[in-house]
Amino acid sequence: MLCLTLTESTIAKDLEVLERNRRFVSMSELRVDCLASGEMEKAVDFPKKAAMPIILTCRRISDGGKCELADKARIEILSRVAEGSFAYVDIEDDVKRRDLKIKRGEQSIDFEASLKARGIRIIRSFHDFEGVPADLFGRISKLAARGDIPKVAVMPQSMLDVITLFRIHDELREIKEKIVIGMGAYGVCTRILYKRCGSMLSFCSDNEAAPGQLSAQTMKELYHADSVNDLTHIYGVIGNPVLQTKSPVIHNPGFHAIHYNAIYVPFQVDSVRAFFKLAEMLPVYGFSVTIPHKRNVLPYLGRITREVKQIGSCNTVVHIQSMWKGINTDYYGFLEPLSSRLTDGTIKSALVIGAGGASRAIVWALRNHDVKVTVVNRTVEHAKALAMETMSAYDSLDHISAYSGSVDLVVQTTSVGMTPHEQDDASKGYLFSGKEIAFDLVYKPRETVFLRRAKEAGCRTISGALMLLEQGKLQFEAFTGYHYPSSLHPVI
Ligand code: NAP
Repeated sequence: MLCLTLTESTIAKDLEVLERNRRFVSMSELRVDCLASGEMEKAVDFPKKAAMPIILTCRRISDGGKCELADKARIEILSRVAEGSFAYVDIEDDVKRRDLKIKRGEQSIDFEASLKARGIRIIRSFHDFEGVPADLFGRISKLAARGDIPKVAVMPQSMLDVITLFRIHDELREIKEKIVIGMGAYGVCTRILYKRCGSMLSFCSDNEAAPGQLSAQTMKELYHADSVNDLTHIYGVIGNPVLQTKSPVIHNPGFHAIHYNAIYVPFQVDSVRAFFKLAEMLPVYGFSVTIPHKRNVLPYLGRITREVKQIGSCNTVVHIQSMWKGINTDYYGFLEPLSSRLTDGTIKSALVIGAGGASRAIVWALRNHDVKVTVVNRTVEHAKALAMETMSAYDSLDHISAYSGSVDLVVQTTSVGMTPHEQDDASKGYLFSGKEIAFDLVYKPRETVFLRRAKEAGCRTISGALMLLEQGKLQFEAFTGYHYPSSLHPVI
């Protein structure tokens, strides 16, 4: 189940948000701690108006909420609102039994017993914003033993912590109803693959109500997270950071279009070794690799292609015949938009700006097609090392003006000009003749200052967005054995 967390200041606004997201979720959580004073009375009728199962929660500040009241007063509020037809009430695991006994005039009410008598399920929640406690499995078992639904929301700090969360599925299989949430960047994969953590639901929100929460639309329409089952094949992208990646927008709709029961998930990875452990455990069938792991994965690969060997970096790993195979689709994604001009010999010379990881793939791709290459870079030693290896020429970036109009192709491979530094231009000083092709690896923005200057001079221009898409399509083929569906045009 996907559960929408509602954190607006009025019931009317919560209902608005719910209506907007209704088709993506099957239940909601009403966070009454976020309501303005005077709205609390209206919350009682919320489940009727919402017409879907609702979790009632009044979260205190120490657990990421807004309620400043002491537990006794907070439980008193909760008990009044809980008179509505809620399906679940969330009570933190450390709330004392005596605080659950409420005085109403002369009457003493056992809040817990009254909820149970009305068939309202209690969610016993535990939060840790610092990490994953060593006794996590024990905590979940203890909470479940009381007949309540255990909920743990913890903050994984490493891939090893993420492995702990995915182990819950097998280790605590007998606890059918439980909620497991990994917060923060490391936890995003556990939110999307919540069923593989043994969790009965995953929370989502319009406004990232908790760290790492995705929108309901993204969870439902991009990831189809609620359709994941034991047969779903898992793919993904590893990097650090990784959440900015556009690759899920390429692969998930592709899988869906060819009716392949598969999902593509971002994995924040600090240790490649730990990720390979997780990949064997889940299992993961293939994954993309981004900064800073394109070299780090090499020792774990059983087979590599000629390009990976030459370039010394790998951006795609697939599990084939019980072995991890590394390929480099950046290489072919770069060549694709240039292929006809490379084969007809129009491109004989190229100036490559930058000498980092991406530049290595580009210089090798051009050299393998007999193009004469000059590498210019801010740090001349890096340009020299790449040039020596590939039998190219090299120079300092400071001398770029000397190459103006002298080549058939200029490739900008540095990160200069990328959002939010859109005004920067690594090619400053180079004057376009209008005859050369200008290719920028930066994909955001689509038109960099480098490309705009080239276009104004009359050059043919190619954006990094095209290369990103082309290399993604090749990854899709490596993952699935199918061509990327021609009907799809992912916006990246
Ligand atoms: P990298 O290994 O860190 O290399 C960065 C390169 O940029 C180095 O040559 C570095 O020069 C240079 N550089 C950095 N800041 C500079 C500055 N302020 N002025 C001048 N030069 C500067 O990074 P990478 O993996 O090669 O990635 C580079 C870019 O390519 C990124 O924007 C990445 O997103 C993009 N990319 C795009 C695609 C695609 O499909 N479109 C694929 C791969 C990469 P020094 O040697 O002096 O440090």
